[in-house]
Amino acid sequence: MFRKVHVRLAFLCAGITSFILFVMSCGSLYISEAGLKSRSFTSFQNDMNTLVSNLEQQTIITHEWLTRIEDNGKYLINVIDNGIPFLYNERSTDEQKMLFETAWECYRHTFAAEPVLSSYDTWHIEYTFSSTGGRRDDYYACVTTSQRNTGTFQVMILCSMKPLLDQIRTQRLLFFSLDFLALIALSLFSWHFTRRLLKPLEENQKRQNQFIASASHELRTPLAVILSCASASARASEEERSHFLESIQSEGLRMSRLIDDMLLLTRADDLSWTIQKTASEPDTLLLDVFEAFEPLAQEHALRLSVELPEEGIPAFSCDPERIRQVLAILLHNAISYTPKGGRIRLSLLYDRKTIKLTVADNGIGIPDEEKKKIFERFYRADRSRSEKGHFGLGLCIASEIIHAHRGRILVSDTPGGGSTFTVLFPLS
Ligand code: ADP
Repeated sequence: MFRKVHVRLAFLCAGITSFILFVMSCGSLYISEAGLKSRSFTSFQNDMNTLVSNLEQQTIITHEWLTRIEDNGKYLINVIDNGIPFLYNERSTDEQKMLFETAWECYRHTFAAEPVLSSYDTWHIEYTFSSTGGRRDDYYACVTTSQRNTGTFQVMILCSMKPLLDQIRTQRLLFFSLDFLALIALSLFSWHFTRRLLKPLEENQKRQNQFIASASHELRTPLAVILSCASASARASEEERSHFLESIQSEGLRMSRLIDDMLLLTRADDLSWTIQKTASEPDTLLLDVFEAFEPLAQEHALRLSVELPEEGIPAFSCDPERIRQVLAILLHNAISYTPKGGRIRLSLLYDRKTIKLTVADNGIGIPDEEKKKIFERFYRADRSRSEKGHFGLGLCIASEIIHAHRGRILVSDTPGGGSTFTVLFPLS
């Protein structure tokens, strides 16, 4: 499912960004081309202005002057003296002749009304036109008409727009090549970006699936006991039935505790659980838990002791119920994983910045490679040694509560064997 979403998201992301990029580059290409065309036409007009003022000064138009004006083939010139073409250039090809015919036609068609010129007046106009025939080429054209004492003298100058169009074509090619490269870069970027974006969601989904699978697995055992007890009690004697009912009740309680734990973790995940902080004295909290667990420790033949600092410890802001829950989880584990005759020590240290609560036992201990894993959901280091009431959620709940108080939980080995859990709460 995530792969499909990833592909779609990457495609959408690359598509939208590429479309925006394409529209923007088309816009800037259009502006740039319009600027190029306008600059090129202005430059042609300027050249023509110079040429016309030069022409005005010429009393006799010589072949040399016309050849010089042609500027090595940059301009094509056609002269009409009193309506008769002035053949100065024998090199003129048929193609060129046709080109001038088209240009004159276009001129007469576009500028039908020529101004009436008085003697020695010169008038000129610039325009663009496209050649007809096999190849359609675009040209700038300038027609100058001057009135001389010998009659009307007209010069047509053509300049091919090919260099400009070549420049525009190269520019377009460059723009689209850059767009293509940008499209590839954007596609790669979207692919990686969307993958990174989806990774936490995918991991979360994986964790949730694992959580559901483990929870279902944990619930299946008590449920199977309840169902088998219920079916057996139907044919059992009165005495056996009360035994089965007891089992059903204890398994029901186990299930209810597991469901409570799971709900608590779910609420911690979506940050909807409540931490009601009040100023609480840490030594009082520790003593409360110590007193509550003393009978259980005695039942398991364990020595439970508590160590408190001599000087008074200030109250700190916490949810006392939740802190009691943390200490209860740690103590319950210490009692469960310490063999008979063992020792469990509860202690409290305070150094003005941090409050340090410790639960140390001399039980079976935790191997180094397991120390990180024990905080994962439903993780139990040695399932065969876990009691029935252990689902592998205790430390996970404890660490969620501690993190909600901006604290830390650490696990280390007790000197001489066993495990020590240390909880640190910042005071500020
Ligand atoms: P559980 O409910 O199974 O105890 P926890 O999350 O509280 O789950 O603990 C996870 C695992 O960490 C336990 O299954 C156990 O293997 C190990 N563990 C926790 N506390 C201790 C301890 N005091 N001594 C040894 N092992 C411990």
